[in-house]
Amino acid sequence: MKGSKNRLNAKQRMAKRQRKSANERKDNLHKVANEIVKNMVQNHNLAKSINDASWSKLVNSCIYRAIDVGKYIEFVDPNGTGQLCSRCGAVVKKNLSVRIHSCNNCGLEMDRDLNAALNIRGGTYGLCGTL
Ligand SMILES: [Zn+2]
Repeated sequence: MKGSKNRLNAKQRMAKRQRKSANERKDNLHKVANEIVKNMVQNHNLAKSINDASWSKLVNSCIYRAIDVGKYIEFVDPNGTGQLCSRCGAVVKKNLSVRIHSCNNCGLEMDRDLNAALNIRGGTYGLCGTL
């Protein structure tokens, strides 16, 4: 019944669960931001956390955390970073299910994410902004 004590209790329990869930997501974002800013990446738990989090909130948390510790963040356009060979620059087309970069031009073979990271670190491809 509307306005009954049971209905009020249920409403309060629901609000409490929603607050708890929001706080857990916020805590999780801060944890992920800390991990990224400290360069403690490259593990599957972190990748899962990124998938679970709202991307824009994660980016904002990273920016705030970087400011807190006096670091800067570079934003990278990921387009093409996984398709180029980090050793010779050849285009090596592959879909996302292919996890190994294997270049027929120079023979380089490595994890595709590592190859993409090397392209990004090289600074030649796709840098689109710096904070
Ligand atoms: Zn190559």
